[in-house]
Amino acid sequence: MSTPETKSLLVQEAPIFVQSTPGRSGASLPALDVPAVDVAALWPAALRRERLPELPEVSEPEVVRHYTRASLWNFHIDKGMYPLGSCTMKYNPKSADAAAAIPGLTMLHPYQPEDQLQGALAMIHELEGYLARIAGFARVTLQPSAGAHGELCGLMLIRAYHEDRGKRRSKVLIPDTAHGTNPASCTVNGFSTVPLATSELGYLTPEAVKAVLDDDVAAIMITNPNTLGLFEERIAEIAELVHGAGGLVYMDGANLNALLGRFRPGDAGVDVMHFNLHKTFATPHGGGGPGSGPVGVGEKLVPFLPIPTVEKRADGSYALDQERPKSIGRLRAFLGNYGVMLRAYAYIRELGGEGLKQATEMAVLNANYLRASLRELLHVPFPDRCMHEVIASDHDLKATGVTTLDIAKRLMDYGFHPPTVYFPLVVHGALMIEPTETETPQTLDCFVAALREIVDDARQSPERVKSAPQSTGLGRLNETLAARKPKLRFGGEE
Ligand SMILES: *Cc1c(COP(=O)(O)O)cnc(C)c1O
Repeated sequence: MSTPETKSLLVQEAPIFVQSTPGRSGASLPALDVPAVDVAALWPAALRRERLPELPEVSEPEVVRHYTRASLWNFHIDKGMYPLGSCTMKYNPKSADAAAAIPGLTMLHPYQPEDQLQGALAMIHELEGYLARIAGFARVTLQPSAGAHGELCGLMLIRAYHEDRGKRRSKVLIPDTAHGTNPASCTVNGFSTVPLATSELGYLTPEAVKAVLDDDVAAIMITNPNTLGLFEERIAEIAELVHGAGGLVYMDGANLNALLGRFRPGDAGVDVMHFNLHKTFATPHGGGGPGSGPVGVGEKLVPFLPIPTVEKRADGSYALDQERPKSIGRLRAFLGNYGVMLRAYAYIRELGGEGLKQATEMAVLNANYLRASLRELLHVPFPDRCMHEVIASDHDLKATGVTTLDIAKRLMDYGFHPPTVYFPLVVHGALMIEPTETETPQTLDCFVAALREIVDDARQSPERVKSAPQSTGLGRLNETLAARKPKLRFGGEE
């Protein structure tokens, strides 16, 4: 990164629109050898541009450098530790990307006849089977495009189940440590939500459930591990209670990377759960790319799964089944986000059962290693143990004026992406840190060392922390304005 004095000399650091020079081009096209057509004239007049777009005129290296430079300003998982809690930005093996890029797989079209798609259908069917086995379900649908979409699907299944039994139920119980998408999905589905307070130690209790359980409760929705990074130890007991009242149990399994090989939700009485392939199974979350939120169900919800399902025929071939009279219908075009499925498939096949279990154990070990180290530096509200992520807060720094936001910004100066901040809401000034299984002890030690310096600075020279970040291309931004009034064009037009 250049210093402010040298920056103005580096013409390459100027925005690409400033580098534009009339007549310069990165393309060398052959001379036209067919009759010229005025393509614009083919468009209806109302849709035509009034003036040509002002594209920068630049050479090929200028364009390549522009995007490469932008990618370096950006923080990404290939550059450093990205401890974003609740979102699992883990480094994923490049072998999974390679598998998802095999031309024979990527060049398929979903409208090709089934007999030409046998390999793809086999992969989908097998992946469905692996996920069902991993989490203890009868079947899985791979259609949902994200975790929240999986929640929508799961709640539609729950609604269909109750309606099929001739009873509409209107309420869903949601603990205050649930992920924010859970209540949102309920509302979108027309359910009202009943909040459940968790215990002082951060757990959901059967007593809290009992207090509000009645025959209008369609389901309980339990994020597990919950957003405090804690395993809901009484989930089986709670499932029994809810089943006793005729309700169903939804588990938000977005963070299953804390449980693989150790706990099967289906075995604990969970009826329906979504996975986040783009957290647990080899696609990073939040990269702006597609996700996948498969939904696993127990036997009683199988008839309601979205169509089409992929079925294996007696002769070993695969076919799409569109004839499922109780199905909630189609959730999206085609069969789901195929590239994400391919990565998950490759990842599961590469690691195998033992490998997946080991990944979970390392993720939990790493989080607990951080928890033990952080306890000496910051307030850790749930200090006993955690699953795959740990929460600290700025509570002990009150007198210094340094806040969670300042700590997050200062971490950038040390080359770390900030953790999730101010979430979960139940912890004031939360820093939610998820190291994942792929970070080495050396990296974790560096992260702790950075936090130690930041905490020392907070006490001795708080301005250093409050004015961070200093090493980034841009300093501290007004995040509200950046989100509400983004300037998406060069020249500042909104
Ligand atoms: C990430 C996450 C979700 C939502 O998943 P998206 O793919 O972002 O829609 C839901 N619940 C939990 C616990 C999560 O961590």
